[in-house]
Amino acid sequence: MTRHVVIVGGGVIGSAIASFVLRDPAFRGTVSVVERDPTYARASSALSASSIRQQFSTAVNVEIGRYGIAFLRRIGEELAVGGERPDVGLVEPGYLFLATAAGGRALERQHAMQRSLGVDVALLDPAALATRFPWLAVHDLAAGSLGLSGEGWFDGWGLLQAFRRHARAHGARYLAADAAGFDLTGERIAAVRFADGSRLAGDVFVNAAGPWAASVARFAGVDLPVRARRRFVFVFECATPIPRAPLVVDPSGLWFRPEGERRFIAGLAPTDSEDFDDLPLVVDPKEFDDILWPALAARVPAFEAIRAAGAWAGYYEMNLFDRNGIVGPHPEIANLLFANGFSGHGIQQSPAVGRGVAELVVHGAFRSLDLSPLGYDRVISGSPLREENVV
Ligand SMILES: Cc1cc2nc3c(=O)[nH]c(=O)nc-3n(C[C@H](O)[C@H](O)[C@H](O)COP(=O)(O)OP(=O)(O)OC[C@H]3O[C@@H](n4cnc5c(N)ncnc54)[C@H](O)[C@@H]3O)c2cc1C
Repeated sequence: MTRHVVIVGGGVIGSAIASFVLRDPAFRGTVSVVERDPTYARASSALSASSIRQQFSTAVNVEIGRYGIAFLRRIGEELAVGGERPDVGLVEPGYLFLATAAGGRALERQHAMQRSLGVDVALLDPAALATRFPWLAVHDLAAGSLGLSGEGWFDGWGLLQAFRRHARAHGARYLAADAAGFDLTGERIAAVRFADGSRLAGDVFVNAAGPWAASVARFAGVDLPVRARRRFVFVFECATPIPRAPLVVDPSGLWFRPEGERRFIAGLAPTDSEDFDDLPLVVDPKEFDDILWPALAARVPAFEAIRAAGAWAGYYEMNLFDRNGIVGPHPEIANLLFANGFSGHGIQQSPAVGRGVAELVVHGAFRSLDLSPLGYDRVISGSPLREENVV
């Protein structure tokens, strides 16, 4: 039986799913990817900090991270098209999660879980942190957890393009169209309706609409707890060398990492009372001067003398229920699959999610890595799988 798979959203998640479905020799059918903006101007995949880690608080995310890094290391073979091998410039300097006394216990607990799953991570006391990273202020710290391998960053735009090129080379059809509704027959989706009134019939429908996933779920009458939450990324230059800098996650919620020679990027999670849905993607420069810079200088004294060099804003696709991805079928609308809510860690999860959703489409079950802990059922039953490490 040949089947038509319709994916709404052609960002890194939708494109990864298309690529994995079409590479499976058991798949008989066609894949359409509905993407309303082929320039990806507001897509999260184009505005990401594109970093990858193993240090999560939930085991399934650790497993997803393990596959993600393995995939990125061999992306040249995985996504080669006609002898052209993509390169996304993966580097692996690690993540460093810092904790004060208040967060020390949680860091130790997570460290033990991660080690039990084979993650290459070291717990460092303040003296060890100061020796390894002499530029770091450690006076208020209790510990730091450093990824020794399998963590770093890459070119996220390059990854999106590589998945997209691979999917297209294997027959995916990208439609520049704005999905505006679903036609339902009983408890199945029969077609996606476009803003211009035309329709596209299909057998399986995948919601890969990133920060706009809740509006696509609403087409089927489903309430998805995913919201577009704005995050800023600031770029700065530091004349003083900061050797061997990993991606540092500060107890204040600040993060920073190198981006090339003397450049860094940084961001800071807003407080809950300021974190509204759908804020315009416009940078507030006061955020850098008043909040970010003082926090940077407090953690790295050399950052007193930095120079701002740009900024951008993008949306996290926040799952307000438990800050984790929602992956798999809707229990009642059997031909609707979710790949949503990755809460700021979706670009690194795209290889595992693409492979997992493709297995559901082609084989009706997860075959390699069981992603069922991320199923929609937990939302219905009110059983959150909370991810503590949202950066
Ligand atoms: C500032 C920032 C930093 C980040 N840092 C990291 C990081 O370090 N590591 C990490 O792993 N992740 C990070 N993320 C998160 C990561 O970028 C996202 O999780 C990931 O890109 C989500 O991909 P997506 O394909 O689901 O969404 P998107 O890339 O947003 O793609 C969804 C697409 O769906 C399309 N669409 C939506 N609705 C419709 C419709 N009705 N009809 C047609 N098309 C539609 C949109 O046009 C869009 O192109 C970051 C995100 C941001 C914003």
